Parts: sequence; structure tokens; C-alpha cells
Amino acid sequence: MPQPETVTALLAELEGAGPEDVLADAARRFPGSVAFASSLGLEDQVLTAMIAEGKLDIPIFTLDTGRLYPETYDLIARTKERYGVTIHVYFPVAGEVEEMVDRDGVNLFRDSIEARKRCCAVRKVRPLRRAQRELDAWICGLRSGRTLRTCTRAVPEGEDARSGRWWWESAEHRECGLHHRTGPRGAAS
Ligand code: SF4
Repeated sequence: MPQPETVTALLAELEGAGPEDVLADAARRFPGSVAFASSLGLEDQVLTAMIAEGKLDIPIFTLDTGRLYPETYDLIARTKERYGVTIHVYFPVAGEVEEMVDRDGVNLFRDSIEARKRCCAVRKVRPLRRAQRELDAWICGLRSGRTLRTCTRAVPEGEDARSGRWWWESAEHRECGLHHRTGPRGAAS
């Protein structure tokens, strides 16, 4: 894993480089130990296209929390077909989900912030950590100032674009466990 001073040096070295160049650099610099975590959002789809078109040696994976929309599964299938890539899917540990749901209910994330964090830990964070176990670096399509959206509802006209996420909680607590331990550009810390 690069040390903070290395990351700082890398950021300086790649200042002004386009995303294709940054991806190619990551593939060269971390052969066999870098991967792209796709949430299939807009930015992620662009990165998938760049990885596929550049024929870069960067495996792509995604997380299936068990609560994805049917459209997401269609999108995974269509993305694999269109770009000819493999998207490896990591699932939570079944026993952990069963135990949590037995104890706290299927919609525990609506009960409290703690319950939502517990749900994210079991369904997202631990599978992500498992996916990262053999990696020295990972890539995600997270822009600064934005985080992942799940558990969403439609955003009413005139409201902030992020207001649909975890709408039953107060705004200051809306943070997904997935990126709690990440740096400003999404690199794992
Ligand atoms: S976003 Fe987190 S809290 Fe909501 S269902 Fe997914 S894993 Fe659970």
C-alpha cells in the first residue's frame, strides 16, 4: 500500500493528467494488484469504457448488497455485453445477513443511524474489504463532494440532488459506511 508521502508525490506527478492516463498509469504501476470498484453510476460507466477501450489490466468488481434494484442487475449484464468485460460480483456473507435480519428486521436501516451503519457494514463495507484484501490500490468513480447513493427515493423538484438518499435521516448524518475510511480522491487509507 503506498504511504501518504507516496500518494502526495503521485498526485503531484499526475496533476493535470486525463483519466485515461491516470488509469493506464495505475495499471502499469500496480500490475496485478489494482482493481476498479464500480457502483455502475455514470462516472463508473465512463471508467469502465476507458478500461475496456484501453484494454487495461484492471479487473472490475461490484458489490451486491442483496438490496439492489432489478434495473441494476440488467445494467451489470448490459455493461458486460457492451464492453466485453468481466464484472466480478462480491456478496455479503450470508450468515451475517441472516443473523442481522433475524435480530433487527429487513428494514433495520430505517430504525436508527446505528442500525443503518450496521446494515452498511455487513452488506457493503465487509465485502469491499474482502475485495481489497489482495490489492495495493483500488479505483472508484467517486467525485470529491459526492458519495454513493442507495436506499434512495426520487428527489422532489427544487430539492438538493442528494436529498433522496437516506431521506428518513437528518442531512448531517447521511454518510455511507463504504467511504468512511477513504481519502479525498477515493484512495483507501
Ligand atoms: S445503503 Fe447501506 S443501509 Fe442502505 S440498504 Fe444498502 S447496505 Fe443497507
